[in-house]
Amino acid sequence: MTQIVNWRSCVCIDTLTDKVQDNGCDSGYTAAVNGELIYLDNNATARVHPEVCVAMEPYLSGEMYGNPSAGYRFGKQAREAVEQARGQVAALLDVESEEIIFTSCGTESNNTAIQSALKCYPDRRHVVISAGEHSAIEKPCKYLESHGYRVTRLALDGEGLIDLEELEAAIEPDETALVSLIWANNETGVLSPIDEAATIAKEKGVLFHSDAVQAIGKIPIGLHDSAVSMLSLSGHKLHAPKGVGALYVNRRVRFEPWILGGGQESDRRSGTENVASIVGLGKAAVLLQNALKNENHQAHLSGLRDRFEKALIGRVANTQVNGHCEKRLPNTSNLYFEGVDGEGLLILLDNAGICCSPGSACGTGSVKPSRVLTAMGFSSSRARSSVRFSLSMFTTEEEIDRAIEAVEQTVGKLRVTLPSGRGSVVRNT
Ligand code: PLP
Repeated sequence: MTQIVNWRSCVCIDTLTDKVQDNGCDSGYTAAVNGELIYLDNNATARVHPEVCVAMEPYLSGEMYGNPSAGYRFGKQAREAVEQARGQVAALLDVESEEIIFTSCGTESNNTAIQSALKCYPDRRHVVISAGEHSAIEKPCKYLESHGYRVTRLALDGEGLIDLEELEAAIEPDETALVSLIWANNETGVLSPIDEAATIAKEKGVLFHSDAVQAIGKIPIGLHDSAVSMLSLSGHKLHAPKGVGALYVNRRVRFEPWILGGGQESDRRSGTENVASIVGLGKAAVLLQNALKNENHQAHLSGLRDRFEKALIGRVANTQVNGHCEKRLPNTSNLYFEGVDGEGLLILLDNAGICCSPGSACGTGSVKPSRVLTAMGFSSSRARSSVRFSLSMFTTEEEIDRAIEAVEQTVGKLRVTLPSGRGSVVRNT
């Protein structure tokens, strides 16, 4: 018998029978496992679209393995594929091709943006972010603080929103090198007022970056007339593979590279390009651009998400949405189940074939309650009883209905069995 032990709340779950045992009490619950996976963790990573796989194949199978920097025709084919993908990503954002730099991931794009701003404005030693940033912004900023920089973190209100007046007051024109705000929060899906915030920063002569890793491909984003200076995106959140990302850099703003070497990406990001994945990212950009033009795409996602929330709020007592109900991504639902151990819930839902998340899949072993939910003013206990469900274009109505049943049953059993509000592993994706 395999047992998963939630050591923080002394809960044992027998993975063969799904029986929950707590302090000797056996709930007798057996999950209705039917062998099929219901993947509701698309903010952690999303399935590679089959058409993306087809587009990448020639660059993986051996026929098109040339180095895009090589001078002969065989290398030129790879170069052309990279440039086509650059145009496709640029089209998704409504920007110029030369404003796109390919990177290895969203984390690299974020770090590059921060480092570039600091190098371009070496006399400025202040950065403004929000209290709801992903660790790929929060941790580099913590590092800066330990090296003498000042970081202002804008507060989140109870719905996960920042206050633009607080932003305006926080910017110190001769001191602030960068304002960086997450476009859509990875845990709650709540959207920041990016257009307004970027305009404020621009008027004060300060670079503005947005970590748009969760937003790109889920909502339409056009940067043509925008005051955004830099923007990060990541392939694996938008149905392209892991290990590829991009940084948009407005051609009118200054930029300094972070990774130095062979001078690829027009000397802005060295390292031989990941051609196959870049081609995949380009294809995903085309697919999502087309999908976003179709109003049904977003309506499908938000319709399923709302059906899920409405059913659970109606059927499971003391269930609430974390975050602003309208100003958020159409695919994300962060739900609080009062008195339920989030980790126990995840384990049992996993046994029922349902993937969801208490926060993210980036780190391991952190047992702190969600930084984002606590920044919104929620108690540690509420944060530990909250779970994120994130849908994708592949999520079906049938899956949502099965997930509703499973969550309702599981929460009911855990409430009978477990002491409340204990032991949630929270990571940050
Ligand atoms: N920013 C946000 C908002 C994210 O959700 C993530 C990943 O979860 C990242 C950055 C990091 O992206 P990557 O996994 O591509 O490094």
